[in-house]
Amino acid sequence: MAETTDEKQTLGFQTEVRQLLQLMIHSLYSNKEIFLRELISNASDAADKLRFEALENAELMAGDTDLAVAVSFNKSDKTLSISDNGIGMSRDELIENLGTIARSGTAEFLKQMTGDQARDANLIGQFGVGFYSAFIVADRVTVETRRADLAASDGMRWESAGEGEFTLEPIEREQRGTTVTLHLKPDDAELADEFRLGALIRKYSDHIGFPVTLLDEEAEEPEAKTINAATALWTRPRTDVSDDEYREFYKHISHDFSDPLSWSHNRVEGKREYTSLLYLPARAPFDMWNREAPRGLKLYIQRVFIMDEAEQFLPLYLRFVKGVVDSADLPLNVSRELLQQNPELDAMKSALTRRALDMIGKLANADSDEERAQYDGFWKEFGQVLKEGVIEDPQNAEKVLKLMRFSSTNDTSGDQSQSLSDYLSRADDSQDKIYYLLADSYERALASPHLEKLRGDGIEVLLLTDKIDPWLVEHAPEFEGKRFQDVARADLELPTDSEDERDTDSDDEHKPLLDRLQAALEGRVESVKVSHRLSDSASCIVTNEQDLTPQVRRMLEAAGQEVPESRPVLEINTDHPLVKRLDAESDDAQFAEMSNVVLDHAILADGGQLENPAAYLARVNRLLLGEEETA
Ligand code: ADP
Ligand code: MG
Repeated sequence: MAETTDEKQTLGFQTEVRQLLQLMIHSLYSNKEIFLRELISNASDAADKLRFEALENAELMAGDTDLAVAVSFNKSDKTLSISDNGIGMSRDELIENLGTIARSGTAEFLKQMTGDQARDANLIGQFGVGFYSAFIVADRVTVETRRADLAASDGMRWESAGEGEFTLEPIEREQRGTTVTLHLKPDDAELADEFRLGALIRKYSDHIGFPVTLLDEEAEEPEAKTINAATALWTRPRTDVSDDEYREFYKHISHDFSDPLSWSHNRVEGKREYTSLLYLPARAPFDMWNREAPRGLKLYIQRVFIMDEAEQFLPLYLRFVKGVVDSADLPLNVSRELLQQNPELDAMKSALTRRALDMIGKLANADSDEERAQYDGFWKEFGQVLKEGVIEDPQNAEKVLKLMRFSSTNDTSGDQSQSLSDYLSRADDSQDKIYYLLADSYERALASPHLEKLRGDGIEVLLLTDKIDPWLVEHAPEFEGKRFQDVARADLELPTDSEDERDTDSDDEHKPLLDRLQAALEGRVESVKVSHRLSDSASCIVTNEQDLTPQVRRMLEAAGQEVPESRPVLEINTDHPLVKRLDAESDDAQFAEMSNVVLDHAILADGGQLENPAAYLARVNRLLLGEEETA
């Protein structure tokens, strides 16, 4: 960091800021008005922060206790200013906040930009542009600020044309807080207009808990008029808040440009008093998979802003839920550590979790096609995160399972669109299990030999291809009294099995063949059995109850983990010509060659890899070339 001097200094923006500025100016031009939302939002945050710091140090508010945001414009100068008497910034904070982007993953995020404006605009909206959006309409931005706990002589002026650098110089500033002045681009000078600004402020700030005033600097008798309602939105009764206001408030707290999918606004009275306003975003933030990414609700206590990203109020699998919680009972001096220890919190957390799940459930069970389509979109964005809930939150597992959508053999779209209730409503009464197949992809699942008999018998199978699915089914006890059953497990029993499939007669009947196979495949298989689940394929491999499934095995191996050894069970289809041919083979060497190929094919059909592909190729070549060559 450069040394403090009295001189004007020029500093460079961090590379990411430079890139973001370039992209934003070009891709957000059609959405340019949002800069005002961002700047008013920052001013209101600054007022919130001052009120919070004043809890400890009342001096900070001295002389000026009416927190407010003042917008003013000057048509002749083509300027627009947004002022607040909030917390202000020190020199170091200015450099840090208006010269860098601290969020991790920014560089990767910026790499996703393509130059396609519509697409990039969407992505940037997901990232949240904040202060830098001022440069969409301004060719120069001046920030004058003084931190509330510093002297008037410690004021600072920051200025930039939004290209590579900004300047900093010390100024004298009586008034605490910040004034951001935009020198409007010639094409955007029309923004310096009372009517235009009034409408925008109303739109963007009616939900903010501080007055926002508007002033024409050139008026004969300049007078600041309060434009907004100035009551924090969540404190108003539901019936008084319009959908548009709810949507704007979401954008204010979420860094998201798109409208939320839905929201849930509740006041709880009685022993514990609090108000919550939870939102379901339409799209996942760019850093949803980063476990350290900020998450959580905005916490207020008795209307006083306490902290952003209070993650103690919702479980990790609901980390995409945004919102506000305003408690009447928590102590004002609460810290993150104290929150963790507060017994009140567990009760609030489970109540808020239920609210969030109900909000999602309402969308999931909606009657209108439009809302159903919205839920499909929601599931695509957040389904994988929600699935963590079955593991993280056993108490709500049944509720979470109800929200899930799966691909299944009943639906050829390949989308995850079938609920467990859909599945059960189609199942025969005699079916007491929910059948599923684990696979690495939807295509592989569809081609799996394990589905042959089930398909023939009209039994629907869920096709589970997400990384988390093996853990999901392991933790999901059952749904509506039906247990989950892997169709690739050795002990599979189907309601459609005939009498003689249920007993082991067929294994006895084919004992000589099974014994021969077992001997030929010694060391490669656990055992060999007659299959009841095949109709077209000659063989398949299945897993014993206590062993890891091949999918989990592959995942753990890919992650470099030690995996206990286990061998598959080979099942053969005794009606298949290849198996009949095998049974008739009298030459032991030839029998061994063919048995190994039958096993290799079963492994390949399961999406597995052969331990020794070269040996497989050599075997197949020998078989294709015929017996006389091998002799
Ligand atoms: P965000 O608001 O999401 O943090 P912004 O780009 O809008 O991102 O702002 C960056 C940071 O600059 C803010 O977090 C805040 O610390 C600081 N900042 C911006 N505007 C103001 C202001 N008016 N008063 C005090 N600090 C501000
Ligand atoms: Mg901001």
